Amino acid sequence: MIVPAPAPLQRITEPLLQDKKVTLYLKREDLLHPHISGNKWRKLKYNLQEAQNQQKSTLLTFGGAYSNHIAAVAAAGREFQFKTIGFIRGEPHETLNPTLAWAQSCGMQLHYLDRTTYRQKQEVVFLENLKNQYPNAYVLPEGGTNLFAIKGCTEIVEELMIVPFDYICCAAGTGGTLAGLIVGVQDHGQILGFPALKGGEFLKKDIANLIKEYNGQEYANWQLQTNYHFGGYAKVKPELLAFIQGFKKKHHIPLEPIYTGKMLYGIYDLVRQNFFEPGSTVIAIHTGGLQGLPGFNPHFGLETQTAI
Ligand SMILES: *Cc1c(COP(=O)(O)O)cnc(C)c1O
Repeated sequence: MIVPAPAPLQRITEPLLQDKKVTLYLKREDLLHPHISGNKWRKLKYNLQEAQNQQKSTLLTFGGAYSNHIAAVAAAGREFQFKTIGFIRGEPHETLNPTLAWAQSCGMQLHYLDRTTYRQKQEVVFLENLKNQYPNAYVLPEGGTNLFAIKGCTEIVEELMIVPFDYICCAAGTGGTLAGLIVGVQDHGQILGFPALKGGEFLKKDIANLIKEYNGQEYANWQLQTNYHFGGYAKVKPELLAFIQGFKKKHHIPLEPIYTGKMLYGIYDLVRQNFFEPGSTVIAIHTGGLQGLPGFNPHFGLETQTAI
């Protein structure tokens, strides 16, 4: 398998950070691969090997209509010669949005599941039926989180050890990436997760359970910052969009509003509140997800001039 070159660590400088004596780096996982970006590459890596080991011809998975995971699986299938099937939450629209158009152009077969059926996607009976229907398929859960994904995400940390750090920050959806970071860091620093959804307490349990299943361990050096979901998954507020626009203008680094924008907004807010001790080094993981932007801009009513 072709393994991409390590993603760069980029120092972010600003008066606020200087005032508070906080050193901030952005780990540019968004630059790992043009189409299998960020944490989705990390999460797929060992799953793709496992699918090859099991001699499966097809990758089958689930996601919403803007899902970075759907886009990544479609691209991975094209690159590594798997057929791909995507079960998409909700009703089909007359024209495909950019994410689904991309997935289809990679050869992904799209099927739509109404929201009630979609909710059964992790149930044993549903999955057994699916496996009987598609015996050659390797089934990946929504978001790609499983134990192989955690293993892949531990490798992000190996590439961070080049600078001494106090904190690693990462956005969280299912928490699989965060689980991999926690396992990878092994008590060498603090990890802060920024949930993109409401209900961080569930996520805390999910992550602890994932880690226990992975290596039987419990870690105390991590916490969730649950104040930066902006109303919930895929919800935004004008101040979030303005922050993303400002960040791009100042640093020439694009963020997206679902995950990385909320995380960095949160980090800046914590810096302002003196959460990080003076002299701290913070590494924020840019988990990618930029494929969704062409779909979000019209969705949030942003014109070319204000596009994020
Ligand atoms: C999927 C995704 C996440 C969330 O990853 P989890 O492992 O599900 O927590 C974070 N950032 C981006 C850009 C993503 O696409």
